[in-house]
Amino acid sequence: AKKAVLGPLVGAVDQGTSSTRFLVFNSKTAELLSHHQVEIKQEFPREGWVEQDPKEILMSVYECIEKTCEKLEQLNIDISNIKAIGVSNQRETTVVWDKITGEPLYNAVVWLDLRTQSTVENLSKRIPGNNFLKSKTGLPLSTYFSAVKVRWLLDNVKEVQRAVEEDRALFGTIDSWLIWCLTGGTNGGVHCTDVTNASRTMLFNIHSLEWDKELCEFFEIPMKILPNVRSSSEIYGLMKAGALEGVPISGCLGDQSAALVGQMCFRDGQAKNTYGTGCFLLCNTGRKCVFSEHGLLTTVAYKLGRDKPVYYALEGSVAIAGAVIRWLRDNLGIINSSDEIEKLAKEVGTSYGCYFVPAFSGLYAPYWEPSARGIICGLTQFTNKCHIAFAALEAVCFQTREILDAMNRDCGIPLSHLQVDGGMTNNKILMQLQADILYIPVVKPSMPETTALGAAMAAGAAEGVGVWSLEPEDLSAVTVERFEPQINAEVESEIRFSTWKKAVMKSMGWVTAESS
Ligand code: ADP
Repeated sequence: AKKAVLGPLVGAVDQGTSSTRFLVFNSKTAELLSHHQVEIKQEFPREGWVEQDPKEILMSVYECIEKTCEKLEQLNIDISNIKAIGVSNQRETTVVWDKITGEPLYNAVVWLDLRTQSTVENLSKRIPGNNFLKSKTGLPLSTYFSAVKVRWLLDNVKEVQRAVEEDRALFGTIDSWLIWCLTGGTNGGVHCTDVTNASRTMLFNIHSLEWDKELCEFFEIPMKILPNVRSSSEIYGLMKAGALEGVPISGCLGDQSAALVGQMCFRDGQAKNTYGTGCFLLCNTGRKCVFSEHGLLTTVAYKLGRDKPVYYALEGSVAIAGAVIRWLRDNLGIINSSDEIEKLAKEVGTSYGCYFVPAFSGLYAPYWEPSARGIICGLTQFTNKCHIAFAALEAVCFQTREILDAMNRDCGIPLSHLQVDGGMTNNKILMQLQADILYIPVVKPSMPETTALGAAMAAGAAEGVGVWSLEPEDLSAVTVERFEPQINAEVESEIRFSTWKKAVMKSMGWVTAESS
């Protein structure tokens, strides 16, 4: 069959914690035409440590691009229609590499990694003034953000120290690493990041939108290793190799910002929750920085063009969501694939008294408690793997409820519904449970790849590309799936939610830096 003539196409790299994807969209209709996905290995060399191989991540990107292009050719779609590429990435994950050899000097230290717990405790003793970090960065001092990971690498890895002394070291989050490599690496690669990724390093001033000298001094991180900070939508450089050689890379957003854009949350008060490895609820606060009183982060939402204004968001971050399902698969072996969790949970339809607090990486929002560790409690002779599976799903919903409550308190106006996306939203039991526990409708777009869509939109709208219009009226025709809270769910879910909070209290104070 002869293919209809398509408009310009835009590709998006979606480099997540659990997998890498490349997706190609029609820029006129936002229709997803083809994609390819590769799972990424995670290494756990010691308790609490989480690493990935930066080279494997890069190769997975090339593989996804090549395979997607092959699929497009099979569909009779000419890949020369691809006019731009956007990058969206797992945030905070830290890479230091050698700009002469192009080789990483250590594995990527993944955002979930806890090795910096003692680094954080030491730094916390010498913060100059209570509000020093939060007022500049919007973030609490935590193992989560890049600055402490770089500090750890400088303190513990000789190759990194030496490369810094010899002026060979470059630091970047995954976006920087990928863009540097894709635009030529040792052969003229562009060392840059965007404002959203920069805002997660803890070295970036979210008001001036520049690296902050005082922050770099506090963390003792040399500014010469930092990438140039650019907007989220502009041409950074051209693809240097592969099937898409010569195509501009012109969009860059941290994954949660990309999902906010892909869900079209452009207005003040619009919010989305993404259920991937972790779970991240972001609410657009417009052009003002709102500081949370309830454990949320203030972060850069996006800046879609060099001369465009910056938008901010309040964020509730949960470290472990889909990762608990992966843990049940890989560590306990009670399922063979993530989607089998639904079958187990369905068999029982309740966890009875069993509660599972998956504080594998301490607890993030709203507690920010690195001493917490996972617990499964309320077990009886009666409990079986189905109840534990159900409790794992319920944990994701309870954690979301906690950050939604914090968001409502900080914003004043409660959310009327929750827009969702991410790999876990394929799970219908989870979605219904979430609606029942929040007692508001949960709304899922029929095209769930919103992270990639956001990156593609940013890339297609960039100056000099101009194939994607970001006018909100163009974007309203998104079809959705809705999950309504069940009548009478409220009373029972309130009781269960308060028991969950009791379980959370029990998970805290388990491991301190001294005891580990
Ligand atoms: P990330 O962007 O963090 O890599 P994804 O959005 O790709 O994450 O989602 C992958 C996560 O979702 C994995 O942790 C996986 O265990 C979980 N997941 C995937 N399918 C299901 C399902 N049907 N039910 C529950 N969890 C799922």
